[in-house]
Amino acid sequence: MDPDCIFCQIIAGQIPAKLVYQNEHVTAFHDIKPVTPVHVLIIPNRHIDSLAELQPEDADVVGHVLTIAQRIAETVGVAETGYRLSFNLGRDAGMAVHHLHAHLMGGRRLGWPPG
Ligand code: AMP
Ligand code: ZN
Repeated sequence: MDPDCIFCQIIAGQIPAKLVYQNEHVTAFHDIKPVTPVHVLIIPNRHIDSLAELQPEDADVVGHVLTIAQRIAETVGVAETGYRLSFNLGRDAGMAVHHLHAHLMGGRRLGWPPG
């Protein structure tokens, strides 16, 4: 755990979040500033800064984030209508929190390509 990381603090229960799901590998919670009607963040419980720091031995961590997404989509009601899973990295994608996270977004038609 990185004590200065806001997402590590959410995992540890030190700051509140609207949890959707949690197991020993991942935590999912509603984004505090949703950009779509459904906007959930799925994060590994182990602190990894970003996609840029991923190592081959982190494959299982990423696998847990991806493989839980459909179950979370079912929980929040977008499995039928569809959703987008997105990882941001760097300036052009607008990454703000440096703890690897997937945005699960849905609940309305999403534009493609992204604006
Ligand atoms: P990114 O721009 O990809 O780094 O996304 C970070 C996301 O974290 C943004 O969508 C924020 O709204 C969200 N966020 C920041 N702080 C919190 C928090 N305390 N609880 C829930 N979501 C948060
Ligand atoms: Zn962290």
